[in-house]
Amino acid sequence: MSDVRDLIIIGGGPAGYTAALYAARANLNPLVIEGITFGGQLMITSDVENYPGYPDGVLGPAMMQDFRRQAERFGAELITEDVTAVDFSERPFRVEVGDDEYFARAVIVATGASARQLGLESERLLQGRGVSYCAVCDAAFFRSKNVVVVGGGDSAMEEAIFLTKFADKVTVVHRRDEFRASPIMLDRAHANPRIEWITNAVVDEVLGEDGKVSAVRVQSVNTGEKTDIPADGLFVAIGHDPNTRLFLDQLDHDEAGYLEVQPGSTATNITGVFAAGDVADHTYRQAVTAAGTGAMAALDAERLLSSEDHQAEPFLTAPHAEAV
Ligand code: NAP
Repeated sequence: MSDVRDLIIIGGGPAGYTAALYAARANLNPLVIEGITFGGQLMITSDVENYPGYPDGVLGPAMMQDFRRQAERFGAELITEDVTAVDFSERPFRVEVGDDEYFARAVIVATGASARQLGLESERLLQGRGVSYCAVCDAAFFRSKNVVVVGGGDSAMEEAIFLTKFADKVTVVHRRDEFRASPIMLDRAHANPRIEWITNAVVDEVLGEDGKVSAVRVQSVNTGEKTDIPADGLFVAIGHDPNTRLFLDQLDHDEAGYLEVQPGSTATNITGVFAAGDVADHTYRQAVTAAGTGAMAALDAERLLSSEDHQAEPFLTAPHAEAV
């Protein structure tokens, strides 16, 4: 308990590193427990063209190295391990990494969310080479091409409609013939002449040529018949899961497990614990919005800690004042 830090940041994505950069520059000496697979969702993205400041685009992993280096430059300490448990029931908060324990007056949770994957080996191999989990990020690479979107929820409809601004043809593949998507989104997608539909079918394999997606093999759930759809891209839109398993019994969250923060702030229901990035955002889910809320979280933490220091000052100085 002797070594109580001001701030621990859990998570090494755009939100975590931006929080670290701001906190380090505010002399909070943050410890970032960035996770074994640090970098977050951008590590499975190839070109990033919509992050301001990179006019020529940047590779996702290279951008995360830049974020990381910038946080380290101002003294953020990084541990490339996964947090295994947290105790937010009293301050200082306890954060465990295996047998090691760390204590801090404030914690920023920035563990992100993970796009659900189909779980195919061919999908994994072609990630960032035509297999994408974000149409807003990658649609522009598919101008005048054919793409497949898998999923039957609002995300799949939204991605399919967005993709028609670029692609010539978008084929939605859904495993049932009923859709989870809201009627309005479904109607909009049905009305779009560039969208074709294959229902009662699952993606069986992603086919590649020269290291890039060339076709998507789908299998009918009724007949077992397999069909290859020529395509340059596969957009997997089967939902996201926030990485909040460690926090669910301590922090307020919605039904899907996303952490709840107070409006206009990154404060959670526990004073001193803040949440930033996709872990508390299922709407925007962009690197730039995650970085923005990371900065907010560091500022929120810094304001709380300095107001507490300020309040504590009379008590700290009282004996000294009496002696004088
Ligand atoms: P979702 O509603 O959970 O839908 C996921 C879809 O993927 C379902 O159709 C599901 O099929 C399918 N799926 C899941 N696992 C699959 C697998 N392994 N193989 C094939 N298909 C699979 O997720 P979401 O679309 O991301 O939406 C999440 C939440 O965000 C929803 O509340 C949604 O309304 C909201 N959202 C809103 C908007 C908007 O209003 N603009 C946009 C995006 C998202 P089954 O139906 O068969 O289970």
